[in-house]
Amino acid sequence: MPITIPSYALAVVERLERYGFEAYVVGGCVRDSLMGRVPQDWDVCTNALPEEVLRVFRRFHVIKTGLQHGTVTVMSEQQPVEVTTYRVDGEYTDNRHPDAVHFVSRVEEDLSRRDFTINAMAYSPTRGLVDAFDGRQDLATGLIRCVGEADARFNEDGLRLLRALRFASRFGFGIERETAFAIHRNRHLLENVSAERIFKELKGILAGEGIAQMMLAFPDVFSVIIPELAPSIGFQQCNPHHCYDVWTHLAHAVQAAPAGDDVLRLTLLLHDVQKPACFRMGEDGRGHFRGHAAAGAEVARSVLRRLKSDNATMEDVVALVRVHDDAMPTTPAGMRRLVGRLGLQNVQRLLLVKRADCSAQSSYKQEEKFRLLRESHLLLEEVLEAAPAFTIKDLSINGRDLMQLGMQPGPAMRNILERLLAEVQEETLPNTRDALLPQARKYLSADESSL
Ligand code: ATP
Ligand code: MG
Repeated sequence: MPITIPSYALAVVERLERYGFEAYVVGGCVRDSLMGRVPQDWDVCTNALPEEVLRVFRRFHVIKTGLQHGTVTVMSEQQPVEVTTYRVDGEYTDNRHPDAVHFVSRVEEDLSRRDFTINAMAYSPTRGLVDAFDGRQDLATGLIRCVGEADARFNEDGLRLLRALRFASRFGFGIERETAFAIHRNRHLLENVSAERIFKELKGILAGEGIAQMMLAFPDVFSVIIPELAPSIGFQQCNPHHCYDVWTHLAHAVQAAPAGDDVLRLTLLLHDVQKPACFRMGEDGRGHFRGHAAAGAEVARSVLRRLKSDNATMEDVVALVRVHDDAMPTTPAGMRRLVGRLGLQNVQRLLLVKRADCSAQSSYKQEEKFRLLRESHLLLEEVLEAAPAFTIKDLSINGRDLMQLGMQPGPAMRNILERLLAEVQEETLPNTRDALLPQARKYLSADESSL
């Protein structure tokens, strides 16, 4: 299959070749093209030294941030193209950063430093594919395999463990036997990887179509990153609603949630994290987990804080874990209150969390649970269609109106607005100025006479 290189990247390759250097597109873009996927970005490797690259592109806008690793970013047709000199990495003393890089003259040597065979292919429009490690074969069979000796490669850079899981999850691939053994054996290396990098990879792993397979095959790796999850592994639920132990349930629940939203998949990963801690065997002979949602929310917060999550993601996940087991409201007023409390986006997410949670449970009462969720969904849409009032900001009068009635800003004013909101939500009062102002006046005089 010929690879179609977009003109902005082709221009970079051709310009280097015109000056007598060798140049290839390399790595992820070759892999994605061979898979029929659209590459995110196009990287180029070349035997030109960094100073030579700078001279060849002296009339281009270039960014030199990666220069010490041999990388120059060339702006070509307003698009960035990373141009990296063929290199091998020196010693790794911290399992993460090579102490030095050495430039080399052959593309095959450059490919040998790359992590996985499917990422270690280069392509030239004139010389064709360079595939020194049978990456094409592994693409065809769907395997992630280290280039060279797996233990050594993971010891050089612990992040590669998670990259292996991320690519396998993204493409629904398996992990080759020796590579998989090495991942298990070397999982402790993740302790040397920064929280930011781990969190970024974790989100990538969670977003893949093969996530359940990865969680089921590598629970030990996940529990190095998030030790709080370790007790879930193999934890039997002893309850007719469940057909899986907690960890297996988590794996299927994450898989069942839509992939595009980190918050959803993180919520499902963590939603039952405190089930083992909250387990009680009831007199009915069934396992119960009272309080696991509220306790889980706190654990989710400390996990995400340690992983250096951004605050917005953390707050959304914590809020959703806390309510994941609550019954959905069945009345318009109740639904409006929930939207007021959680925000519309999180109520929409909550429905997806509950559906994914339910689909990873046993068939016991499952149809009924799905039916209730469908009804909640319809109720939410109906509530949204009717002019909504979820918080006091949505009322058609505000504090300024109350000040004109002679009130001072403060808790008493807020109290009146809350009472008006409750009435609007209960639909005993329409959300119009004509209805709200007289009612506010009534509350006001009642409050004053009770003083
Ligand atoms: P993505 O689509 O996620 O960007 P990618 O393959 O392009 O996938 P990058 O992280 O952008 O991944 O890296 C580009 C290339 O650099 C990889 O294909 C691989 O050849 C090499 N590479 C990146 N990170 C490492 C690493 N930690 N160890 C070895 N090689 C790496
Ligand atoms: Mg890339």
